[in-house]
Amino acid sequence: MIWKVQVPAKIGNFVWRLCHDSLPTFLTLKNRKILVASSCPLCDEDEESFSHLLLFCPFARATWHGTPLAMHTSDLGDVSVQQWISQLLLKHKKLEQENMKYLQGIFTTLWAIWTHRNLVVHEGKQLNPLEVILTTQSLVCRYTEAFSCCSISFLRSHAQNKLDQIPPRPWQLIIKVVGARLKNLNRARYAYEAKTTQGDPILQRLSSCTNQAILVIIQGAMLEAAIKARDLGCKHVLFLSDSRRAVQVNNNKITPSWQEKGLMSDWSHLLAADFVYHSVFVPRIVISSVNSLAKLATKMAFTCCMVNQNLL
Ligand SMILES: [Zn+2]
Repeated sequence: MIWKVQVPAKIGNFVWRLCHDSLPTFLTLKNRKILVASSCPLCDEDEESFSHLLLFCPFARATWHGTPLAMHTSDLGDVSVQQWISQLLLKHKKLEQENMKYLQGIFTTLWAIWTHRNLVVHEGKQLNPLEVILTTQSLVCRYTEAFSCCSISFLRSHAQNKLDQIPPRPWQLIIKVVGARLKNLNRARYAYEAKTTQGDPILQRLSSCTNQAILVIIQGAMLEAAIKARDLGCKHVLFLSDSRRAVQVNNNKITPSWQEKGLMSDWSHLLAADFVYHSVFVPRIVISSVNSLAKLATKMAFTCCMVNQNLL
């Protein structure tokens, strides 16, 4: 059954080895008397079993929560990762498109966490859940495209709804957006920060604004950031936000409210000009740096914009 899930052989292999207990976690090595210590290299809070590393470690939890699957692995209870995988395979054994995409997402996330763990352990890389989330997202998108290119229904739905699929092209900017209403001050604030995929900041903006519904503030900020990105010559933009609704409206997944509709018509102008964007829901911790930036606009009416043209 593992091999029926359409992912590259390296990922299929990884899941097969995981299910047959043949990956070298620290606990496995300790049990084989190769290592003495077995604590998790990512959190140092527990032994590095497969289940801890891939599901319950704070790093794994942040990753699962941030992927489009938006999973709370702490709700899984006392299950081992192997039991969990076999339950999922059983539950989704009819491999129609939706189930296939779901299992592709699960397998790829597991593999991406393991790969990141190896980079941390063997190459001293810094822990970065956001990187794992984005890698998983772009890989799943690529696999869905690659393995579905013969499916007529896929092509039809792809042509019909451009926003429904994540486009298979490299993102130029990753923009983190936050917004908040300020109790007692009758004011609101928003901030966004755009970085290249190499992590260089291109654009930062924070602003106080009039007190409106929080969703309109966030979506207005996304729209403003999109227009600025386009003016800077970037046409492929990925948004990160901790507002699930803003992400869903932006991705055309739910019907916008009347307030949101006004903004959506501006988005359609951008799309007509070949602008491609997608929004991803992420936990607050991933965008905490932008949140601290936004706090500057809390106390007084304040607007500030920084553009780093040299990097474009
Ligand atoms: Zn851990």
